[in-house]
Amino acid sequence: MKKNDALKSSLSILGEIIAFDTTSRESNLELIAHIKSYLDNLGIDSRLTHNETGTKANLWATIGPETIGGIVLSGHIDVVPVDGQDWSQNPFSMWQDDDKLFGRGVVDMKGFVAVALALAPEMAKANLKIPMHFAFSYDEEVGCIGVRGLIKDVTENLPLPRAVIVGEPTSMKIIGGHKGSRSLQSIVRGVPAHSSDPRLGSNSIMAAAKLVTYLENLQQELADNADPACPFDPPYTTIDLGKISGGTANNIIPEFTSVEWGMRIVPTDDGEAIENRVREFISKEIEPGLKAVPALNDPADHAGVTTTLKNVVPPLVPDTASAAEQLIRHLTGLNNSGVVSFGTEAGLFQEVGIPTVVFGPGSITQAHQPDEFIEISQIKECIDFVDQLIDWAAQDNSQELFI
Ligand SMILES: [Zn+2]
Repeated sequence: MKKNDALKSSLSILGEIIAFDTTSRESNLELIAHIKSYLDNLGIDSRLTHNETGTKANLWATIGPETIGGIVLSGHIDVVPVDGQDWSQNPFSMWQDDDKLFGRGVVDMKGFVAVALALAPEMAKANLKIPMHFAFSYDEEVGCIGVRGLIKDVTENLPLPRAVIVGEPTSMKIIGGHKGSRSLQSIVRGVPAHSSDPRLGSNSIMAAAKLVTYLENLQQELADNADPACPFDPPYTTIDLGKISGGTANNIIPEFTSVEWGMRIVPTDDGEAIENRVREFISKEIEPGLKAVPALNDPADHAGVTTTLKNVVPPLVPDTASAAEQLIRHLTGLNNSGVVSFGTEAGLFQEVGIPTVVFGPGSITQAHQPDEFIEISQIKECIDFVDQLIDWAAQDNSQELFI
């Protein structure tokens, strides 16, 4: 395929897949069916894994031999909501202005998916010695949920790949590491009473405020103890505190307050240990006060704090010698790699023993923004890269790179 045809095809596929509103809360099955039929027409089989309710699916496809040692191009096909954002045109109808393409998901990260699909005919023709796989997943934006089912399916049922490239926007620079995350919710339950006599109740908002202050102090402590050699920015584990709600009226002592919090963890920190410190503070410093209400008959049954771990995304631990990083260095001539503070599914692939890097077109600063855009030059760079990858995977001696 000529470079120009590959670009044309990438842009037309990107326009098509942007038009499917795959905001994480929506079903993605129409887009999955669209991609599947495109691959079917090329003689490429797809394998789907669904969520529990059957409303969303991941797609896995293999081009080339059904053997171990393949290279995975991984991307999520869900997008973040456009609610409340000021877009100058319809976010689900891609438009071009000069050398940029606009639309929800062009950079995060349907642009990468479109390039992979546009080059699928090349891959199918190339007599690949090393298989190439597509891993397109749902619900990445809400905690890398979907890809977990896909990884389980691959590791349990299919020949293991050698390396994964997660095509999140990195401006085509190698990202070898990222932070992990933990998301939690604490539901504080107090004792409701008339505000005229606070002694008869137990105020869940006041108790939640203690948790908030503790988290603020913890954030400061983590920053104060940052390791100067830590490559991340910020160079320490940070606290998320993103949502709080509680109370019903100003003349009622509030019974319930919910605090959603969490952290973004550098790979050298133990997120579970940090979580346990917070839990200990809650049980030692918050719960006794909540339960200490004279009017309460059975405090243990009512007042207290329930903290639930909602989601864990493992970090991507930097490994410059990994097969994934060595492959990209070899193909692109890049000789360094960086780290980022946002999470991706890369840590989940690494966790099951498959070397992984993040490497994709466009800038992360455009992700989740109104009038999200990607520069066409970035799409071109990505096409060049995948072209090189195909050439490499078609050589007889490509495996030598890893020996
Ligand atoms: Zn993304």
